[in-house]
Amino acid sequence: MLLALALLAPACSGGVAGKPGASGVRDPYFPKLGNGGYDVTHYAVTLDVDPDEQRLRGSVEITARATQDLSSFNLDLAGLTVDSATVEGRPAAVNRAGDELTLRTDAKVEDRLRRGETFRAVVRYSGSPKTITDPDESEEGWLPTDDGALALGEPTGSMAWFPGNHHPSDKAAYDLTVTVPKGLTAVSNGVLAGPPTTEKGRTTFRWHTAEPMASYLATLAVGRFDTKTSTMAGGITVFTAVDPEVAKASARTVARVPEVVAWEAEHFGPYPFSATGAIVEREQDAGYALETQNRPVFPGPPGMETLVHEMAHQWFGDSVTPESWRDMWLNEGPATYAEWLWAEEKEDTPADESFDDAYEDEDNWAFPPADPPSAADISEQPVYGRGAMVIHKIREAVDDDEEFFALLKGWTKAHRHGNASTADFTAYVEEETGQDLSGLWKAWLYGRSRPAADG
Ligand SMILES: [Zn+2]
Repeated sequence: MLLALALLAPACSGGVAGKPGASGVRDPYFPKLGNGGYDVTHYAVTLDVDPDEQRLRGSVEITARATQDLSSFNLDLAGLTVDSATVEGRPAAVNRAGDELTLRTDAKVEDRLRRGETFRAVVRYSGSPKTITDPDESEEGWLPTDDGALALGEPTGSMAWFPGNHHPSDKAAYDLTVTVPKGLTAVSNGVLAGPPTTEKGRTTFRWHTAEPMASYLATLAVGRFDTKTSTMAGGITVFTAVDPEVAKASARTVARVPEVVAWEAEHFGPYPFSATGAIVEREQDAGYALETQNRPVFPGPPGMETLVHEMAHQWFGDSVTPESWRDMWLNEGPATYAEWLWAEEKEDTPADESFDDAYEDEDNWAFPPADPPSAADISEQPVYGRGAMVIHKIREAVDDDEEFFALLKGWTKAHRHGNASTADFTAYVEEETGQDLSGLWKAWLYGRSRPAADG
């Protein structure tokens, strides 16, 4: 009888109904990245950063909507120590396995975890955040610098500094409150929600990102910065932060941020965010520039090409975000093509010439851009150069620049602040142009060998 009662119990009362959320969203390259069963709508991240010790104490309040009845759910977190967790204000049991945290609640809040319900989870954590080495050997996550630290998150690094649903398919709004020693600045995405406040020798910065953001585009730069705020046409806030050591060498390019944003808006459609800018660190602080939302990060003074590239990502990648990491070329192809367009219009180098150079470059033919062989290849040359060639072939197929740019603008409008896949893109282009472009996709996007240049 006892046994029978025990078996009956979960069905009628006591136990938590629902199923565990999946521990990953089956990304083709990072299967454990992200988590199933819920959609995050908002992150409130609060951090206290000690740059001397390279330690932080933090909490994240995640507001999410359940997409299934949940008995438990996962968050991604690499390193750090979880001090406590609650779900809907009730203590939650936390289990850790690798980069997966599982939060299990009790029956008192199970109603809040039913499909369609919104719930809040809070995780408090501390420790020394770690630098993550990617499959391609580049470094991301938490990067210590001489005067502080820099957090970069493509493709998985944001799990090094806050627990969350770290797959690009789950975008959310953010509030980031960061406290640092007085004299240092904490720069992040979005806009300052108010002037920084100082208490007992520590200064707090509050950053607000209203538009949805994939977590790989979140950034935090702590250090000494020369900052500048202005407003450009359309009421867009321009906030730049430049390490004083590279301020002079960066000044000319950084001053052109509004010009580049306006020029790209003419080609790609209205700028998708309420803020823009740049974060310029010293060359040794990161191995690459990154299109962090609103405010790309540059290691050392950027050239115009790099500024144009990272800013183009605000449309291609940040606003229209890949559905999975296989769709990376949808970021890098158009961003590289933006460089070709800039060269064409500002430097008298026709895009045809950039295309020919890319065509001759053996590195572009290692694999098809829409199907990198492994996680180590998603940031390799074909994703960029051959991705841009795909865009150029579409321009040739359309054979009318006004129509071609209308096509790009329509794409950024259709998926503004959302996610899109390669299949969405090819279907969209065929629908809009009324052309069967299967030959183009087969040869340039998926083909393993180099087609004829005019093929
Ligand atoms: Zn890029």
